[in-house]
Amino acid sequence: MNRRIACCTNAECERCAEARGTPIEIAPLVVADIAARVVKGQQTYGRALTTHDGRDGLWDAYEEALDLALYLRKEIAERDA
Ligand SMILES: [Zn+2]
Repeated sequence: MNRRIACCTNAECERCAEARGTPIEIAPLVVADIAARVVKGQQTYGRALTTHDGRDGLWDAYEEALDLALYLRKEIAERDA
């Protein structure tokens, strides 16, 4: 990533605005990511995720949260290295 460094915490500072780059709305990115996950899930499992599929969604989500914590900590460790 080739980013300039912000110089202060003033929200009106033009130099800092340039360092932050062009604002991008996040929700459409997330919607597109969900759509891609749906397609990938159908390709991987041969069907859509539905209710009453025999899986424990709470455990699945909990295990994904554990993975998330690992990925977040990895990025923090690499950022601080
Ligand atoms: Zn500034």
